[in-house]
Amino acid sequence: MADFNTVISYIKTQYKTENFIPLHAPHFGGNEKKYLLETIDSTFVSSVGAYVDQFEGMMQNITQTNKAVAVVNGTAGIQVALRLVGVKAGDEVLTQALTFVATANAIAYLNAIPVFLDVDLDTMGLSPRAVTQFLEEFGDLREDGCYNKKTGKRISACIPMHTFGFPVHLDELVAVCTFWKIPVVEDAAESLGSEYKGQPTGSLGKVGVFSFNGNKIVTCGGGGAIVTNDIFIGEKGKYLTTTAKIPHPYEYVHDEMGYNFRMPNLNAALACAQLEQLNGFLENKRKLANEYQSFFASNGLKFRTEMPETKANYWLMCVELENKSERDLFLQTTNANGVMTRPIWQLMFRLPMYSNCQRDQQLNAEYLEERIVNIPSSVR
Ligand SMILES: *Cc1c(COP(=O)(O)O)cnc(C)c1O
Repeated sequence: MADFNTVISYIKTQYKTENFIPLHAPHFGGNEKKYLLETIDSTFVSSVGAYVDQFEGMMQNITQTNKAVAVVNGTAGIQVALRLVGVKAGDEVLTQALTFVATANAIAYLNAIPVFLDVDLDTMGLSPRAVTQFLEEFGDLREDGCYNKKTGKRISACIPMHTFGFPVHLDELVAVCTFWKIPVVEDAAESLGSEYKGQPTGSLGKVGVFSFNGNKIVTCGGGGAIVTNDIFIGEKGKYLTTTAKIPHPYEYVHDEMGYNFRMPNLNAALACAQLEQLNGFLENKRKLANEYQSFFASNGLKFRTEMPETKANYWLMCVELENKSERDLFLQTTNANGVMTRPIWQLMFRLPMYSNCQRDQQLNAEYLEERIVNIPSSVR
C-alpha cells in the first residue's frame, strides 16, 4: 500500500504551503478587475452588454463552433440544450449514473426521465458499448425516432459527460446514437479546453454545454455556455434563453414559453478575462499532471492520465485506490492533514429522486465509485 504521508507532503511541496490546500481554487491573474470596473462604469451590469457578445465570440473560437450562447449556469444550459434537440415531457434521455447531479436534474426539469447506462473504465464517461447493448435490447427504431420497447417512451437524447475533463469515446458514441436517431448533447461542463482527435469537446455532439461555476477550470462566478455548429439551433437557443422575445422597436412580444437564463454582463466580463488565460491554465495544469504522474508511478498509486488521441484539460486530477477501504483511509488521512480530497460522485440511482430510473448493470461505474479520489488540482 502506498504511503499516504509521503503523498501529503509531496502535495504540500507542490503548492509550497503548509496551509489548507483546496481541491480547486480560481486563479485571477489577468484583466478580471479591469473588465469588472469597466462594466460598472458603463452601467451595463445586467443581461445585455458588450462582454456578453465578446464572451460568446470567444467561446465560438475556443470550441470552434458556429454559435455560442451565454447562459446563467451550466445546469440551465443543459436543460435548454435538451429542449433544443427536441426533448419533451415524458421522453427518456440516456446518460451515465457516474456524474454530477446537475446532468440528471437538467433532464428532470423538462419532465423527461433519465436512463442510466454504464461508463467505460478508461474514460470514466458514458460507454458506447453500454449504449449499443441497451439499444440492441430495448431500442425500437421508428420513422420519428427511437422508442424504448420496455416503457414505450421515446428516447430523444443522449448526454455523455466528460468526467473531470477526460473525453469519452466520442466517435463510437456519436456513431451508435446516429444509427438510432438519437441526438447527442455533450455535458462538457468540466472539459473546457479538452480535445478529442484534435477537436474541442462540446463541438462533436449536436449541442455542447460548458459551466463557469467557481470550481471549474475557468470561472465567472456563475455561468454557462451552449455551443453548436447548427446556426438554427444556436439562434433558437439565444431566443429561448432570453424570454423568447420577438424583436420589436417597443412592444413586448413573446410567442413561446422562454426562460430568463441570460448571463449578466458583470459575469461575462469576468469570463472574458478568465478565457484570455485559458491556454496558460491548461499548460500549468498539464505540468502539474506530469509531475503527479511521475511521483505516483514511483509511489504505487494509480494516477489517471489522458487517453491516446485525446487531450484532457486536467480540470480535476484523480488517483485510483485499490479498494473502498483504502479509498476511505486515503480520504481520511489527506483531509485530516489539510490536503483536500474528495471521492467521485455517488451513482445517480442511489439518490432518492432517481432510484426508480431504468438502468443497466453498472459494473464499471461501481468499480470507479469505490476507488476514484480527486486531489488538489488548482493552477499554481
Ligand atoms: C459543474 C457541472 C454542471 C453544472 O454547472 P453549473 O454551472 O454549476 O450549473 C453540470 N454537469 C457537470 C458534470 C458539472 O460538473
